[in-house]
Amino acid sequence: MSHCHCGSGRQFDCCCQPLQLGKAVAASPEQLMRSRYSAFVEGAAAYLLDTHDPDTRDDVTEAVLARSCEESRFVGLQIVDAPPPKGEQGEVEFRAWYRQGEDILALWERSQFRRLEGRWFYSRGEIRPAVKLGRNDPCPCGSGKKAKRCCL
Ligand SMILES: [Zn+2]
Ligand SMILES: [Zn+2]
Repeated sequence: MSHCHCGSGRQFDCCCQPLQLGKAVAASPEQLMRSRYSAFVEGAAAYLLDTHDPDTRDDVTEAVLARSCEESRFVGLQIVDAPPPKGEQGEVEFRAWYRQGEDILALWERSQFRRLEGRWFYSRGEIRPAVKLGRNDPCPCGSGKKAKRCCL
């Protein structure tokens, strides 16, 4: 088993996988966010739908999510801000780095989460301007190397 996609440094089978398999529930919005990022990498579309707030699902379907999993070429996840939740509401700001041609760009989003009957759900996100990874930036894959010596 390799390290979890979410960059926690833990093994996948003790991190995001138990959540995806329904053997555990996320204890915090950050944990849910991490598991959803891993689900995008793994193509776990059913889990993505299952953890999407029913009130904001709109036209999000498993097929739509499966397509975005296939199209995404994620390199790493960076949690920018994960304040403690206020009651049943929580927020996480993250950058999800992905490869596009020769570049690595970040989807930068501040996401809202809601807890319903003890389970956290992703409600919506406010997208921030796209960021391009610099050659001398730390590589988002978590290797500890500069991007130009690693994934870029
Ligand atoms: Zn994980
Ligand atoms: Zn790298």
